[in-house]
Amino acid sequence: MSHIAYVNGRYVPQQNAQVHIEDRGYQFADGIYEVIFLWNGCPVDYAAHLQRLSRSLNELEIPAPMSWAALTVVIKEVLRRNRLTTGIVYIQINRGVAPRNHAFSRALRPSVVVTVKHGAGPSEAVANKGVKVVSAPDIRWARRDVKSVALLPNILAKQVAAEAKAFEAILYTPTGIVTEASASNVWIVGKDKTLVTHPATEDILGGITRATIIKLARASGYKVTERPFTVKEMRAAKEVFLTGTTTFVMPVIQIDQHTVANGASGEFALDLRQRYTDYMNNSNPKTAWNV
Ligand code: PMP
Repeated sequence: MSHIAYVNGRYVPQQNAQVHIEDRGYQFADGIYEVIFLWNGCPVDYAAHLQRLSRSLNELEIPAPMSWAALTVVIKEVLRRNRLTTGIVYIQINRGVAPRNHAFSRALRPSVVVTVKHGAGPSEAVANKGVKVVSAPDIRWARRDVKSVALLPNILAKQVAAEAKAFEAILYTPTGIVTEASASNVWIVGKDKTLVTHPATEDILGGITRATIIKLARASGYKVTERPFTVKEMRAAKEVFLTGTTTFVMPVIQIDQHTVANGASGEFALDLRQRYTDYMNNSNPKTAWNV
């Protein structure tokens, strides 16, 4: 079955979907996106994703293309047409179409695309075993908090990981600070059992999953500190794990040639993964779409 995409006001079979060659998203990566997980028909943290979408648009001075109520109608229609109950919803908003010129007009009409992908996220078996990651220099721009479609450094880092048969690439700055991974946030568990993750500054994407795990962890009695940590500290950590919309909580057991602790999935990470799954399972279909 061909997927149905929403493209600028129309629902079209994905293989026939087209965007203009002078769309600034195509020419300049002048656009932003969101990825929302749909779990048994409920979007996970829908309001938080729309808030971040809104913030990304504001930071780039792209006007909202439609109300959030209208966008919700569009998303629900795409889900219905694709019979999606578990998988991802991808929303991309570009600044619009104009003759190629670096500077932009504020009068452009933003382009909007919504697509979906079926799939249940990473399996329990993968999480129980834990994953290997590589480390790579963080060569991105200084506004990583904006969920921009300009992902060239992220895809290059992920490719290094893929070629090393690793799950992710953890990124570090010239001074050895771990920022995040190519498409997920990074956490460590220190010797004192405190969970540590980089603060949500302009240096990282403020992950929605990261924020939910902070809340779930604190509510379960874990100590959580948001502070930068180094690659050296990460290598010596009791546990390392990743969080993200499509990653959930993923224990890391190897970083490059270095084994994390005893090389088994960490108990805190697996516990938080279970709590996150429970959180998704307990989502209320009546309120899950509220913004
Ligand atoms: N950092 C980066 C660079 C990402 O692309 C993602 C995935 N969107 C994340 C972190 C995790 O964010 P979220 O939990 O919102 O998916």
